[in-house]
Amino acid sequence: MKIISHKREMQQMAKQLLSSGKTIGFVPTMGYLHEGHLTLAREAKRNNDIVVMSIFVNPLQFGPGEDYEAYPRDQKRDELLAEAAGVDLLFIPSVADMYDAEMSTKMTVVKRNNALCGNDRPGHFDGVVTVLAKLFHIVMPDKAYFGLKDAQQFAIVSGMVADYDFPVQLVPLETVRDSSGLAISSRNVYLSDREKEQAPSIYKSLLLAKNKIENGATNIGEIKSVVTDYLKCHTDATVDYVDILCYPELAPLEKVQGRVIIALAVKFSKARLIDNIILDV
Ligand code: AMP
Repeated sequence: MKIISHKREMQQMAKQLLSSGKTIGFVPTMGYLHEGHLTLAREAKRNNDIVVMSIFVNPLQFGPGEDYEAYPRDQKRDELLAEAAGVDLLFIPSVADMYDAEMSTKMTVVKRNNALCGNDRPGHFDGVVTVLAKLFHIVMPDKAYFGLKDAQQFAIVSGMVADYDFPVQLVPLETVRDSSGLAISSRNVYLSDREKEQAPSIYKSLLLAKNKIENGATNIGEIKSVVTDYLKCHTDATVDYVDILCYPELAPLEKVQGRVIIALAVKFSKARLIDNIILDV
């Protein structure tokens, strides 16, 4: 595995690979790698000649008071895990290299943003599409792999790729969970012991909603209340939102029908965690 720290070197390498007929699979991450990231890398390895993984904690997608500074980082550990998962090129640029000049244009998300985390984190998805537009131009992937744990991110990035005709195929993969059902996240390290015991209730609350829907429930208000009450009863977390929307449009629904996402965000003392289930009803 080769480590690349400069965007121009990465771009040169990508051009060479493409001109020699290799396909590139790309896994963008913020590092502190876990089984979720590594599953994306292994899937990329199965379907591409070369796997590029980026590790970049993107300051543009963190709001004031969020955890940009505190975001967990461990490059040495990430290098070992990435190599074992089959990553060929690990691209780890600095902030100064990625944003080397003041930008003269701005990307603004105008759809699929006025819901879920878009409401709670103003500007977050503008930062996400900005960095991904840059990374797609630098890495020039044939396929890019994303986790559906960040289902709103996937919906928004799909919109960007369609809007601007990026020559990349986006590949969504299911959320990877630990044995308790908790969605694996770099931010799980922020949980206290007590919160770790409570956190599996997040997925349980979603399964409760899924079960209700599979048994014929269609009233969105009622199902949301069941999830919220369960979370309040089984965790000390504050519920930022619980919502049921159509997916991937993320528009409100009168009742549960079609492809829907049940999504939530909760705030423990230090960790804000998100999770979701997508269902075809
Ligand atoms: P992050 O490093 O959190 O920005 O995540 C990088 C990529 O890994 C994104 O596409 C995430 O959706 C994906 N990812 C993070 N956690 C998981 C998980 N538990 N299961 C599947 N994919 C994940």
